[in-house]
Amino acid sequence: MKFGTKVIHAGINADPSTGAIMTPIFQTSTYVQRSPGDHKGYEYSRTHNPTRTALQQNLAALENGKHGLCFASGMAAIDTLMKLLKPGDEVISTNDLYGGTYRIFARVFSKFGIKFHFIPMNNPFEVEKLITENTKMIWVETPTNPMMNIIDVAGIAAVAKKHQVWLAVDNTFATPFLQNPLELGADIVMHSLTKYLAGHSDVVMGAIVVNDDKLAEELSFLQNACGAIPGPQDCFLVLRGIKTLHVRMERHCQNGKTIAAYLKNHPKVEKVYWPGFEDHPNHAVAKEQMNDFGGMISFTLKGNKLEDAVSILEKFKVFVLAESLGGVESLCGHPATMTHASIPKEEREKVGLSDSLIRLSVGIEDVEDLKNDIAQALKGL
Ligand SMILES: *Cc1c(COP(=O)(O)O)cnc(C)c1O
Repeated sequence: MKFGTKVIHAGINADPSTGAIMTPIFQTSTYVQRSPGDHKGYEYSRTHNPTRTALQQNLAALENGKHGLCFASGMAAIDTLMKLLKPGDEVISTNDLYGGTYRIFARVFSKFGIKFHFIPMNNPFEVEKLITENTKMIWVETPTNPMMNIIDVAGIAAVAKKHQVWLAVDNTFATPFLQNPLELGADIVMHSLTKYLAGHSDVVMGAIVVNDDKLAEELSFLQNACGAIPGPQDCFLVLRGIKTLHVRMERHCQNGKTIAAYLKNHPKVEKVYWPGFEDHPNHAVAKEQMNDFGGMISFTLKGNKLEDAVSILEKFKVFVLAESLGGVESLCGHPATMTHASIPKEEREKVGLSDSLIRLSVGIEDVEDLKNDIAQALKGL
């Protein structure tokens, strides 16, 4: 099946008892057994739930993987992945990454004796230099947040294979519509389903997809043992959201391209970070590994004044000031004071994250209204 068919049909069967076309919300914690151990494959809903099973199978199909597992949030998925490791193990991670991922690595799992290295990953050889016999996992987020760098997944995968360490890719920003890390050689794909996959800013959930049977078995054990599972109603919402993923992503990409070009030509704008530009430093890698360039854009202002950025964010009418991304509605954010405020100013500025940097999650509204909103917000600076 092609992508636009899989989003609607993969893993989904009409309910055998009624013919209901939509996957029922199996709001049950337990399942009746005929005699001890004689059941229909379901015993207790922490372990398995049919609504969750449908979503897990659907996600595995979208990533061209064998096994999907869902969790109560993206962070719960990352938490479970880190529990594959033990004290003394080392992880090499992208340095420009989701703040919550940085926090769970640096402030939670480092307490348990796992060592994390945070580095820029423009060059796979720089990653290879840090590998020791204790290295167990390489963690990649691409496009990076909020600087929109693109990391060469196939290049890093070759290094990971050579040294037999796991390569995990956080595919939240790209979605399986734009990129399939398992096909590029990654062992593990992780998602915050909260963002584009669910797509309507109404649910928090996470997922992992893998191919390896033994790894899947270990992760299922952890999923059941630790218990950070999503409820069936939320699984239903994500399944419904995914049915339009391809159509939404097409519009996100189209609007993203128009808005990126508009900002680039705006006299008040200093620099626009978007991987679709030919002069983006990683444009060639983006063209190679992604099907399109997405709707996430960051930009800075001439003069680089914090108060100018704040004034624009207050003036936006269609772009709503809020954390998160990937919903049908356009959002804007200010990384220096919101998502990345915990990073010291000098560290932020080293990667280009200046005080005037504004991040946009371009939604699927009419693009003329989005352009006009930017025009009115930047007027009078
Ligand atoms: C939001 C996000 C997460 C965390 O997911 P939650 O569902 O909020 O727990 C992880 N990685 C990226 C890239 C994200 O955007």
